[in-house]
Amino acid sequence: MSNLSKHKNLILITIDSLRADYLSCYGHHKRTSPNIDRLAHDGILFLNCYANSCVTFPSFISIFTSIYPSIYLPIYNNIIVTLPEVIKCKGFKTIGIHCNPFLSNKIFRKGFDVFKDMYYESTGVVSSFATPLKSRLLNIIIEKIHKYIKKYPVLYKWFSILYNLYVLNENKDKVDGVEIIKEATKEIEKVDTCPFFLWLHFMDVHYRYNTPRNVFESTIGKKYPSLFRRASIFSKMRFARLSNKEREVLINLYESSIRYVDICIGILLRYLIRKNLLQETCIIITSDHGEEFNEHGSYGHFKPKLYNEMLRVPLIIYNGGYSRKIIYRLVSLIDLGPTILDILGIKCPTNFFGDSLIPLINNSSILIKPVISEYKNDKLSLIINRYKALYEADKSILDIYDLKVDPYERTPITDNKLKETFNTKIIEYLELRKNIKRNMLRKLLNTTKISMSSKKIENV
Ligand SMILES: [Zn+2]
Repeated sequence: MSNLSKHKNLILITIDSLRADYLSCYGHHKRTSPNIDRLAHDGILFLNCYANSCVTFPSFISIFTSIYPSIYLPIYNNIIVTLPEVIKCKGFKTIGIHCNPFLSNKIFRKGFDVFKDMYYESTGVVSSFATPLKSRLLNIIIEKIHKYIKKYPVLYKWFSILYNLYVLNENKDKVDGVEIIKEATKEIEKVDTCPFFLWLHFMDVHYRYNTPRNVFESTIGKKYPSLFRRASIFSKMRFARLSNKEREVLINLYESSIRYVDICIGILLRYLIRKNLLQETCIIITSDHGEEFNEHGSYGHFKPKLYNEMLRVPLIIYNGGYSRKIIYRLVSLIDLGPTILDILGIKCPTNFFGDSLIPLINNSSILIKPVISEYKNDKLSLIINRYKALYEADKSILDIYDLKVDPYERTPITDNKLKETFNTKIIEYLELRKNIKRNMLRKLLNTTKISMSSKKIENV
């Protein structure tokens, strides 16, 4: 029985594109996250947590299903049990509130009593084209325009700046974190006697970092960049053509957007205190992936890469009075689902690949396993202790980094023995991945057969 299982409710907060090292509790030199820091100070802080992918959709597959992203296929939707489904079965009211179109997928709705897709529900310009079909059509049109005017760089530059000016000026790029909090408190008010599991996803730290002026100026201590300057920087970001000064402004905007989401979390915490709910609620904060600021040749997360700036995410568990602890061990988000179930005292389903991190918190020994992150079937990263392997199937590249001496992954090491060891591990994993996929397909086939034969019996 875990020491944490006395908690009644659980709130899972995911902040899109938030890399761990930009939070003050992870050592960032600016005070970006005082509210999150307080939770970390009174809770459990995982210093070395990794996302299992570098973009939203696959990363959330690991968070909600505890399977490695490349194993997942949409046809599994009916046979995969998701985290909210398991929690709901145990009598919890399950509430999900998000505003990222990639999380509108059917798999993420499974198991939620209330699923608020604020991306599509938001008002104004976004909602006018934000139905799935219209949104897809709009994307196709924009892509076509992009492709055509790419041949004319000056035209392209101005098209991009004007587009960013429009989006920033209208402030319709994303749903504001405060709106997410408003919906969350509204839904908590509606919960009667049962405990609740609440998932909140924030997009404020996602590109374009559109922080309010006052938050920027109080966090950074500099004048807020003009609308045109911001639009111009965001346009150049896609092509990694920023000067040092522009890069600094971009980072300042990112830092202040973290402060903004931290303010939103502060509002939620004050609400929970007012309602006497904080002590009986476990709060978990993490992210789906990080963000690049030209560490490896690009910005944002437009180009999927598996370097640490894209993978190292925060993981903080606040549980009302559990003594402060810092965990140095390597962990990844595949373990988040089993950990949440352990906290709530719920048995983990067999299709979850991860392991609960509670024994680690309680100083019990746990199995040391490599941290695996991947992007589609082509890119794979494997971390074992201080060494990290980056494998690109299509280019047959295998680079090894010694994270202890080269934490920013600048120069791969040439150690043939180590390369051989990692090569064997990667081949083993790829084989395992193939077998798991095969077994899941077999399971899917059997399920279909059973449902077909039971239909036949019904007909008879
Ligand atoms: Zn994301």
